[in-house]
Amino acid sequence: MTKKLVIFDLDDTLIDNIGSWPRILKLIDQRAQKKLGLPPGKLLKLHKKYMIQARQEPKSLRVDGVGYYVWSRAAHELKLTPEETHDLLSWWFDFLPQVIKSSPGAKDLLKTLKKKKIKIAIVSSGGFHNKFLKLKTAKLLPFIDLLLPTGFFSQDKPSPDPYRYTLNYFHLQPQDALVIGDHYEHDLTPALDLGMNVVYFESNRHGPPPPDITIPSIKKLSDLLKHI
Ligand SMILES: [Mg+2]
Repeated sequence: MTKKLVIFDLDDTLIDNIGSWPRILKLIDQRAQKKLGLPPGKLLKLHKKYMIQARQEPKSLRVDGVGYYVWSRAAHELKLTPEETHDLLSWWFDFLPQVIKSSPGAKDLLKTLKKKKIKIAIVSSGGFHNKFLKLKTAKLLPFIDLLLPTGFFSQDKPSPDPYRYTLNYFHLQPQDALVIGDHYEHDLTPALDLGMNVVYFESNRHGPPPPDITIPSIKKLSDLLKHI
């Protein structure tokens, strides 16, 4: 089969995220001790508390609003001034470049796809700034034809809307595209529903597809080329 477009989900496929969250939160907590005079671990506790609350409000909270909600609620509980709150909201992005790296083989794979004149799109859960910074830090940005964070839509994956939008953007049909993701339910089921081919990228974070589902899976990004 010849594909004209490959869609990646980004986190834990092209980007190696393993351990990045605890590292970034630790850096933020250290800065909070220095700048806000908080005791060690205080901001981590608040982050955890409001992440749990954010997950309990999936209907009212868009995926790109989770970070904003969590840090704003923490700032309110700490009675921070608007200026301090503004600083706190930017810390995640300050530290993100220190903890992000590309997955092994990601750059070579994207280079090969470009040589084959295959379009490359990122359809990833979250907001634009976060995803842009990750791609820029990992030096993958020059290969990307479309960066489409799902915060653009009222519903996150597994809604098929982001994939539909991507196909329309490139004026392509479902059979022209291949979707690769590490989360079966979120990344791959909407693609299968639309009639796109998929490849599962094996990950420890989300677990494999259900045992009765037969789809190609890969362990190394370079193996993706066998499916294009
Ligand atoms: Mg992922």
